Amino acid sequence: MSLSDTPNPLVVENFIGGSFVKSSKYLDSFDPSTGEVWAQIPDSDPTEVDDAVQHARNAFPMWSKTTAAERAKILIKIADSIEENLDKLAQAESKDQGKPVSLAKRMDIPRAALNFRAFAESICHHLNISNCIPEMGCMNYTVRNPVGVAALISPWNLPLYLLTFKIAPALASGYFILPLPLFIILMLFSNYNYIEIGNCVVCKPSEITSVTAWMLCKLIKDAGLPNGVLNMVFGTGSKAGEALINHQGVNVISFTGSTNVGRHIGQVAAKSIKKVSLELGGKNAGIIFEDADLSKVVPATINSCFLNQGEICLCTSRVFVQRTIFDEFVQRLVKETKNLKVGPPIEDVFMGPLVSQVHLEKVRSYVEIARKDGARILCGESVDELSLPAPYQKGYFIRPTIITDLSDSSACMQEEIFGPVVCLSPFDSEEEVIERVNNVKYGLCSAIWGQKGDRLLRVAHQLHVGTVWINCWLVRSLDMPFGGMKESGIGREGTSHSLELYTEETTICYKFQ
Ligand code: NAD
Repeated sequence: MSLSDTPNPLVVENFIGGSFVKSSKYLDSFDPSTGEVWAQIPDSDPTEVDDAVQHARNAFPMWSKTTAAERAKILIKIADSIEENLDKLAQAESKDQGKPVSLAKRMDIPRAALNFRAFAESICHHLNISNCIPEMGCMNYTVRNPVGVAALISPWNLPLYLLTFKIAPALASGYFILPLPLFIILMLFSNYNYIEIGNCVVCKPSEITSVTAWMLCKLIKDAGLPNGVLNMVFGTGSKAGEALINHQGVNVISFTGSTNVGRHIGQVAAKSIKKVSLELGGKNAGIIFEDADLSKVVPATINSCFLNQGEICLCTSRVFVQRTIFDEFVQRLVKETKNLKVGPPIEDVFMGPLVSQVHLEKVRSYVEIARKDGARILCGESVDELSLPAPYQKGYFIRPTIITDLSDSSACMQEEIFGPVVCLSPFDSEEEVIERVNNVKYGLCSAIWGQKGDRLLRVAHQLHVGTVWINCWLVRSLDMPFGGMKESGIGREGTSHSLELYTEETTICYKFQ
């Protein structure tokens, strides 16, 4: 597999029932650094989606006869294969999404491999037998069976990273918790193999960034995953995505994307009582107390606001700084931000282009709103001074932008911008900052910086978000639950939490005769 061996533009195919299948219609996919078409992806329709779901349903009885160890073996092979193809996958991710190749190599692709490895290992450990208290001569235990066919829908900002965070647990899922004596009796006197479980999946990656998902299908096929267990249909949300979430053969939907689409998917899932997990948008805040060490907090804040062009759902987009250090913080942040290298993602840069022309316009429109709301734009926005060489003049570049003097009611302080734009605001008291941080419709994450442990914890416990980082940002253990509250989503993902999503639990009460 090499990007240079492929035609220009590269033609992506659906992956259905273990075969790469051409589509009758294609969509253009653009290289964000040049604005040129570099790939064509299937514009899948409901018939193609139906074909994928049928293959997943047909594969389910066979896949559900594999043991956790067998499934883990294949998932670990996939992880190895992602690591072996690190360079090619990182280049493709960068060309598709705009992120620096160096970032994809350091973050996205290693994480995709870790997703497979972690869930493969986790599923084997979940088979451990737990204790159970006998009641009235009965023993209770629970069985977790796979849900069936999972629809996995992912966004464009961390394409392979987020898609694999769904695929790995869905394929791995299924375990049971049984008291030891009952386990022995059942294993001795029953033909039923209690560890035979695992879901089949149909994935629909973002139409803007489909290439690494397609490359993954090749690795998955080579790793020996049986045909039909994983199917990938490419195309738009309104056609392929809509057909998938409405399909009667789908039992669970795992969605990561915008709050508006998530709201719609929640409604569709409710109609047919499908299980659903929604990982949605955010308006994340940083809180910097006056005792914070600015030599560490300034670079860390830059990272949290602008990494991946600010296109991470967890990026900080509001920073509240205690008034006593506000001016010094602003001056140091602006100075260091102006030194960040923005340019072609194949070079040694901190930031590449935004993902698309449409998104660039959306981000710029928020800077315009801020200006109209009376804000001061302290740096960023314009790319004139970048003097980009050919063929990058038509790329979707924007400089990291810092804004101040906005009221909390401004759209830039309330709505998700999802780009390299941050708003700074001073605060006086702990109570005030808690109230202001919570005063948005989202609840994904926050980062707090300072030295007084009791204050940091007191504040952390009062924030209405799924994750609080204290003196760090984006440190993500797969064992910890991940997700949002309020309009940032429903449900949690992680080694235990994802397994709950992709399985149904049944209590068995066995009375001894
Ligand atoms: P989006 O909601 O536009 O699209 C996400 C996916 O949903 C895409 O694959 C799209 O094709 C599909 N889709 C769109 N309409 C659909 C429909 N009617 N039915 C089924 N599928 C449909 O989001 P995006 O622009 O790709 O991603 C950016 C958003 O994702 C931001 O809001 C960001 O905060 C959010 N996000 C959240 C997390 C998280 O973990 N909470 C992580 C990454 C991104």
